[in-house]
Order: sequence, then structure tokens, then C-alpha cells
Amino acid sequence: MKGMKSLKQLKLSVPAQDAPITSFLTTSGTFHDGDLLLNLKGLRLASEDKENRPSDAKEIDLQFSLEDLETIKVIGKGSGGIVQLVRHKWIGRLFALKVIQMNIQEDIRKQIVQELKINQASQCPHIVVCYHSFYHNGAISLVFEYMDRGSLTDVIRQLKTILEPYLAVLCKQVLQGLVYLHHERHVIHRDIKPSNLLVNQKGQVKITDFGVSAMLASSMGQRDTFVGTYNYMSPERISGKTYDYKSDIWSLGLVILECAIGRFPFIQSEDQQNWPSFYELLDAIVSKPPPVAPSDQFSPEFCSFVSACIQKDPKDRSSALDLLGHPFIKKFEDKDIDLGILVSSLEPPINFSK
Ligand code: ATP
Ligand code: MG
Repeated sequence: MKGMKSLKQLKLSVPAQDAPITSFLTTSGTFHDGDLLLNLKGLRLASEDKENRPSDAKEIDLQFSLEDLETIKVIGKGSGGIVQLVRHKWIGRLFALKVIQMNIQEDIRKQIVQELKINQASQCPHIVVCYHSFYHNGAISLVFEYMDRGSLTDVIRQLKTILEPYLAVLCKQVLQGLVYLHHERHVIHRDIKPSNLLVNQKGQVKITDFGVSAMLASSMGQRDTFVGTYNYMSPERISGKTYDYKSDIWSLGLVILECAIGRFPFIQSEDQQNWPSFYELLDAIVSKPPPVAPSDQFSPEFCSFVSACIQKDPKDRSSALDLLGHPFIKKFEDKDIDLGILVSSLEPPINFSK
């Protein structure tokens, strides 16, 4: 009876939705009190090894389970699965949940999850943080930081073209992400394209889906098979040659040129009828001269930047680090250009009132 009395005296505070939470219990059985985490695996300090991570990642080091997340809306569909906007029931924070159905061997799955840890351990503010990955009932679920202005695909759809000053600001951030991947982590992204470059209302641009294309390939049974679009793939990759970091630079060049001219550079117009067949496109990428920025419409700095990226021979392409110092990026560095204002003026990809 003594025990009952002390139980009655125990005070539990219910966290308010928007207030910073100090203590709570997730359905996966992890008790959080500030930085302290306690579950079956023991006790640990959440922030002990996270000193240098972006503030976002430091804030959320929850060992939550899928049951802690409620679905709000489907954001989009890719070739490998769907992306949903979800809310964490306890902290009220939004995330993007990507669910990929797959049926692969245990050892390959472990290897993939290991690769995804690069996202999870990312110390770069220009890589979308992947907070968690779960494997459950033949599907991998990835909990990503939610980017509330969608992808560059959404931005181009509305704006049609992006002016050079904004492109320079956007490109600088993508390059910072690539410098981190290439020069610090020594990895190739392999799938740089508009839908994998995400933006938020603060005007931040971040690269996503690192490691995901490799995962999709594995789910198809072959580690080296590519799943997704070939449009942005470098000539050396299409021809089956060895490739390196410079492959991502080719893709970046095509994306930036597409944003400037308002159409995929290997086609003459966005009209579906003018699109080449799959094989014609691959042939054009491998055999035709690379696309260039028209010098009568764009600044010499922009034209030079594009040509430093879109070179058939990877040796002729600049590195991400060199491109960060390119005159096109430098030209707008101290001009106070606010990408946040530009993207916030657009229709958001998710309308919460519908
Ligand atoms: P593919 O699967 O062929 O590579 P994709 O990149 O468009 O194509 P997904 O990665 O599944 O496919 O993404 C689908 C859409 O979901 C994207 O176009 C993007 O707009 C949106 N999306 C993905 N991740 C996030 C995120 N973290 N925050 C907000 N929106 C996201
Ligand atoms: Mg994607």
C-alpha cells in the first residue's frame, strides 16, 4: 500500500505541442529527459557524439518507432516508393517518410543501411538529414528532414526559369553539399537531379537521396543496376566506363542549365512530342557535343560555369571545390540575394488547408 501511495504522488507532465519538450516516452520504449535517453539498451547521452551536427539533428535524436508518426499527406511518388508528410505525435514536428518496398538479402540490406548512415551522421547543412531507417515487413522506411518547399522540380514548374543571381546562390549550396560528399566523405552521390535537390522556406538548398539509388538497384537484384532517370547521367556512366565524383558534376551542370533555360538541355522544347526516345537520348548524351548556355542570353561567368561542368571527358570537368571558387558563384556572394523570399512567393507543394 505504501507503494500505491508513492505512485499516486508521481507527477507526469504532458508536453505541449509547440513547447520545447524535456521529458517523454516514445512508443518504442525510449524515455527522454533532455539529452538523456533510457531504453532497453541502457542509458546514454543523446548529444555526446553530436557536437558538430547541424542544430536540427542535435534537436532530434529520438529513437522513435513508426507508430510514433502519423501520416498527414502523400507528398510524392518516385520510382521506388512513396514519400509522405508525417507528424511526430509527441513533439509535433514534421518529417518526410519515404517507404520503399523491397525484398533483398539480409547482408545487402545491412550494407545499404550502413550507407544510409552517412545521411544520418551528416555534418553538412546541405545534405537532407535522414534521422532514422527502419526495416519492417519487406519495406525500408526512411525518416527524412521535411523540406517544406519541395524540390527544384516544383520550383522550375512554377517559375519556368531561374535568374542567374538566384541560381548562383542555389548552386553554391549544392556545391557545398557536394564538397562534403566528395572531398570529406569520399563518396559519389550518383543521382543528382532536380527532384533530389530540396528547398525550404529559409532558402536553404539540400541534397537528398544519397545512397537511395544504390538501395533501389539492390532491391532489383543487382547492386550496379540503376533505377530512376538516365537524363542526368554522365556519358562515361552510360557507356559503362569507370566513373568518379566528376559524374555528379556533369549532372549538376545539366540541372543548372535546365533551371536557366527552362527545359531539359538535350531537348528543343518541353513539348512531350519532341522528346527523343530513351535510346536516342542515351545516344545524344554519349555521342553528341555537350549542351552549352547560349552566350547571347547569359553572362560569360554563367556560360563558363556550365561549360566547366558539362564536359564529355570527366578530366576536363572542374571539381566541386574548384567550382565553389568559380567567378559565377563569387559574383553574387556579397549581393544579399534571398532565395527564401523567392521560394516562399511560390505555391507550396503541400496545401495544409485541403
Ligand atoms: P526517383 O524515385 O525516380 O528518384 P524522385 O526523386 O522524384 O524520383 P522520391 O525521392 O521518392 O522520387 O521523391 C518524390 C517527391 O517527394 C520528390 O519529388 C520531392 O518533391 C518529395 N520529397 C522527397 N523527399 C522530401 C523531403 N525530405 N521533404 C519534402 N519533400 C520531399
Ligand atoms: Mg528523390
